Amino acid sequence: MKKLLEKYSAKLVSAGLAEAGNPLLGGLDADLEWNREDPAIPVLEKVFSGLSINSLLFSLPAEPYRSIIDFLASGEVSCIRPEDSETRTFMHDLPVVRDFTSDTIIEKLRKRKSVIIKGKGIVTWGTVSPEQAFIFYSSVCFACFVKFFSDYLRDSRRGEVSPEQDRVLKKALKHIDKYPDKPPELMSGPFKSREDVYRAVAQAGRQTVKHRLVDSFFGNVSLRWGETLFITQTTSSLDELEGCIDPCPMDGSACTSITASSEFSAHMGILRLTGMDAILHGHPKFSVIMSMNCRQENCAARGSCHIRCPEKRFIGDVPIVPGEVGTGPYGLCNTLPPSMKNNRGVIVWGHGLFTVSEGDFNSAFRNLLSIEKMCQKECLKLLERT
Ligand SMILES: [Zn+2]
Ligand SMILES: [Zn+2]
Repeated sequence: MKKLLEKYSAKLVSAGLAEAGNPLLGGLDADLEWNREDPAIPVLEKVFSGLSINSLLFSLPAEPYRSIIDFLASGEVSCIRPEDSETRTFMHDLPVVRDFTSDTIIEKLRKRKSVIIKGKGIVTWGTVSPEQAFIFYSSVCFACFVKFFSDYLRDSRRGEVSPEQDRVLKKALKHIDKYPDKPPELMSGPFKSREDVYRAVAQAGRQTVKHRLVDSFFGNVSLRWGETLFITQTTSSLDELEGCIDPCPMDGSACTSITASSEFSAHMGILRLTGMDAILHGHPKFSVIMSMNCRQENCAARGSCHIRCPEKRFIGDVPIVPGEVGTGPYGLCNTLPPSMKNNRGVIVWGHGLFTVSEGDFNSAFRNLLSIEKMCQKECLKLLERT
C-alpha cells in the first residue's frame, strides 16, 4: 500500500497538480498507512472511520490551480458548479467548506467525491484504490481551471470583470501549460503484429498524458487493425494502458468485452464514416474552454448546450458539436461521426477533442496538439482584448 500511495503522490507532482511534499495520502489494507507524517492525520483518520472508503487524499493544489480555486471558493460560496462534462458525469458539483473538521468533511464526502477546504486544499477518496482519489482530485483541478477561464471570458464580454478576477487571471497565465513546438514521433504503421498494435495504442495514450492533453484517466484511444478495433478500456489510465486495451470486431457483432470505452460506439461510427484507422481523444483545457465560449447568451438550448446546442460554431477550421457520452439520439455516436468527415478534428461542447488519422497515430497526435494550441492562442487573444 505504501508504494501505491507514493506512486500517486509522485503522479500528482508530475502532472503539475501539487507541489512535491504536499500530497498526503492514506490507504487502508490491514492497517491504515500514510505516505508521510502530517498534523492533519488525526482529523483524516476520523474521516476514514466515518466513511466506507479505503483511501483518502488531501493536498494543496499547485499553481495556477491554487489561486483559481481560492478565487472560486471565496466569499460565501458553499459549492462550485462547473459545466464541463467531467464534472457533469463524475463529480456533479464541488462542495466548499471553511473548517477542517472530520464532521464537516464526512458530511460532504458522503454525497460527493471531493470537498474543497478554503485556503487549505482538496480532499478526495477512493473505495478500491488511491487511484480513484487521484482521479477525483485531478478532475477538481481541471474543472476549476476550465470554469475560471470560461467565467472570465463571459464576464469580460459583459464588462463585469472584477479587479480580483483580473489579478487571479494574470497570476494563472504565468503558470499555464506550455505545449511543445513539435509533436513527438510515434510508432509508424502499417503494423505487422498485434503486439505492435498494442504498443502503438499504449504509446499514443502515454504521450497524450505526458503532453497534458488529457488528465490520465479521461480520454480514450483506438486503432483499427484488419477487421478489429483495438480500444482502451473504460476505466483505464491512458499513461498505463498495458493490459487495458480491448480488441473488438469491426463487423458490428458486439464487442468481445463490456469493458471497452464508453465512447466505443462513437469511435466505431467515426472510423466507418471517415475510413480512417486511428482515433485520439483527450480533454485539452483550452479546447474545452473555447467550446463553451458561446456569445449567444439567449441560446434556445441554454443549460443543455452540451447536449443539443443549435449554434453552428467553429474555432478556426474545427467544428464544435454537442453530444452526450454514450448512445441515444443526442449521443456522441450520432453527433460526432458526420462532423469528423473532412475535418482534422472535432471539439465536443464542454467535453474534449477528437482527432483521426490513417495508418498510425502520428497525424492524429499532430492535430490534437495543434488544435489545442490554436484554442489556447484564440483564448489568450480574447483575454488580451479585455
Ligand atoms: Zn471524453
Ligand atoms: Zn447553445
